[in-house]
Amino acid sequence: MSLQEYKKKRDFRKTREPKGGRKKTRAGRSFVVQKHDASRLHYDFRLELDGVLKSWAVPKGPSLDPKKKHLAVMVEDHPVEYGTFEGIIPEGEYGGGTVMIWDKGTWEPVDDDPAEALRRGKLSFKVHGKRLKGEWALVRMRGRDDDDDDGKNWLLLKHKDEFADGRRNILKEDTSVE
Ligand code: MN
Repeated sequence: MSLQEYKKKRDFRKTREPKGGRKKTRAGRSFVVQKHDASRLHYDFRLELDGVLKSWAVPKGPSLDPKKKHLAVMVEDHPVEYGTFEGIIPEGEYGGGTVMIWDKGTWEPVDDDPAEALRRGKLSFKVHGKRLKGEWALVRMRGRDDDDDDGKNWLLLKHKDEFADGRRNILKEDTSVE
C-alpha cells in the first residue's frame, strides 16, 4: 500500500500534517477517529493495517445504534503517524479546517485475514477506543453498474453487543481524547 495519493494531495510547506515515513505503531493495530471540520463536517475513521491507516470519511459519524448504517467513503491511505495529528489545516489547502482526535485506541480483526476481508468488501472488527467499543463492521456497498463510485462507498455499522445503544448519541461527546 502506498502513500502516493496522500502525498500528492498535500503541500507540506503549507500544512503541518505528517509527511509519512514511519512504518507502524508498536502494536500495528492503532485506531483513530478524527472529527474534521472541513468545508463539510465529517469524521475520519482510520484503522492501521499493513503499515498505513486505511481511511474512511463518515459524514454522519459513528452511531452506537445497530440499525443505523452510516455512509463511509473510502479515502486515500494515510500515514500511521496521522493518527496523532490534531490541529488546523490551512484554508485553501486540501482538507482545510480543524482536525480533532475524537477517539483513539486499538482494534482487532474478527476475520483471520483483514486485508483479504477488506478486498472482499466486508471487514468485521473490534475496537478498543475511549468512546467506541465492541464489534463493528465496514461493508462495501454494491453500486448499480452505471454508478461511478469506484467501490468507494461503504457502510459503517455497529454490531449488536453490550456496547450497542440505540438511544445514546455518542457524538454529543465532543472533546478531544488526546
Ligand atoms: Mn477528512
